[in-house]
Amino acid sequence: MQVSKRILVTGGAGFLGSHLCERLLADGHDVLCVDNYFTGRRENVARLMDNPRFEVMRHDVTFPLYVEVDEIYNLACPASPIHYQFDPVQTTKTSVHGAINMLGLAKRTRAKIFQASTSEVYGNPLVHPQVEAYWGNVNPIGPRACYDEGKRCAETLFFDYHRQHNVEIRVARIFNTYGPRMHPNDGRVVSNFVVQALKGEPITIYGDGQQTRSFCYVDDMIEAFVRLMDHPKLTGPVNVGNPGEFTMLELAEMVLRQTNSRSRIEFRPLPVDDPTQRRPDITVAREEMGWEPKVPLEDGLRETVNYFRQMMM
Ligand code: NAD
Ligand code: UDP
Ligand code: UDP
Repeated sequence: MQVSKRILVTGGAGFLGSHLCERLLADGHDVLCVDNYFTGRRENVARLMDNPRFEVMRHDVTFPLYVEVDEIYNLACPASPIHYQFDPVQTTKTSVHGAINMLGLAKRTRAKIFQASTSEVYGNPLVHPQVEAYWGNVNPIGPRACYDEGKRCAETLFFDYHRQHNVEIRVARIFNTYGPRMHPNDGRVVSNFVVQALKGEPITIYGDGQQTRSFCYVDDMIEAFVRLMDHPKLTGPVNVGNPGEFTMLELAEMVLRQTNSRSRIEFRPLPVDDPTQRRPDITVAREEMGWEPKVPLEDGLRETVNYFRQMMM
């Protein structure tokens, strides 16, 4: 039988956070969702409000937070380039001060704490596919650095609180994840292409479209979060993502097929420091957590298209 826990989810009103809150409530836990609504939306958690085990608090994690909890999932941070580059100083503060505050909270309450890290810690990788032991290739002063270096510093803090204060940590390096409740105009490739196709607007491919990414469906990702948190000892960092690798051109063609759209493809300049390839090596997650993604891109994309179709109606 599962014991009911008090769980804090920072960034709980965002894309991944709202799916995580839903899952934890379904598992019978008390969930406290903390969010400053920078990119998150109350609609994302509206359906959960009737649940007496669910509570929402407007709060910015760069400020201290005093609550009593058993577990913390630290997801607060804008995740798309458009949003994290809007106020880069605040992005670094959210990652770094946010991590310090949540780790201080974990230390005081002896809570286990999960960090939503990112494949961006590998930067523009020189090792392919990326393994956890790879230290990365990040430009520390470019426009993506506020996010990449903020997340790298957060990882440093997690491992130092672990070594110095025995805080129980779980660090997941998340690769591109997509699904319902993605922000329709956060500029990420899946939401962009789907919305453009449904509106009949040109599909914007940056560069020549030969750069690759691997896309993990949100349900698979949430399962990985919970498995890592529940693991008896694995601190990570653990890569979590779908090892299927696609070029942006292939993705565009798949979206066009699924939406029966007549949008044409338009090529735009490649953004600065845009990684040319990215694919997770998930051997550690497979062997230690017994986890691997189950939803193929075709299927997940269908759910995502349905979501945006309904949203636009
Ligand atoms: P999202 O933007 O939908 O969610 C982030 C949430 O954090 C939002 O609700 C936002 O309002 C909140 N937030 C931002 N700054 C805050 C602050 N200072 N205090 C409190 N709340 C704050 O993005 P997401 O895709 O759900 O990403 C969630 C986490 O996962 C992020 O930490 C992100 O870096 C990480 N991640 C996501 C992906 C992905 O593909 N979706 C990939 C790698 C890592
Ligand atoms: N903190 C918090 N909630 C708590 C405990 C601590 O937000 O329940 C914050 C606190 O503001 C502090 C930070 O976490 O600045 C780091 O805490 P820690 O105990 O590591 O450091 P110290 O309090 O010694 O600065
Ligand atoms: N991209 C694109 N068209 C768009 C949005 C993004 O071709 O409308 C490309 C982008 O240049 C990158 C890839 O798609 O190479 C993934 O971009 P996203 O911002 O979704 O994620 P990240 O770069 O953080 O992996």
